[in-house]
Amino acid sequence: MNVPIYILVFNIIVFHFSRKNRSVWKKTFGSKKLFKLREGFCKVCGEDRYELLDAHRIVEGSKGGKYDVNNCVCLCTSCHRLQHAGTIKILGWVHSTKGNLLHYIDKNGEEQFS
Ligand SMILES: [Zn+2]
Repeated sequence: MNVPIYILVFNIIVFHFSRKNRSVWKKTFGSKKLFKLREGFCKVCGEDRYELLDAHRIVEGSKGGKYDVNNCVCLCTSCHRLQHAGTIKILGWVHSTKGNLLHYIDKNGEEQFS
């Protein structure tokens, strides 16, 4: 086998972390698929076509954000893109008498709870 050692090491690291992420998802939600099915729609615009739904971490992984119920929200691909572009800002979940509401700033700069 003539594969350079650094490629082997890189592949082992990627494999390890992708397995680790999958196991974190499984422990918390069952799977990303189950999470999207359970949430059912984009919490910003209401889009409900399964194939357009994404799971978004409110505090991103590089800043220590975990895959747990307080840090994840179901967004459609369009709202997910707007969030990462800074057009809308997901602030987090708030606990109210109506249950957990998503607190965010919409594309018009207005504060929303949904
Ligand atoms: Zn959306």
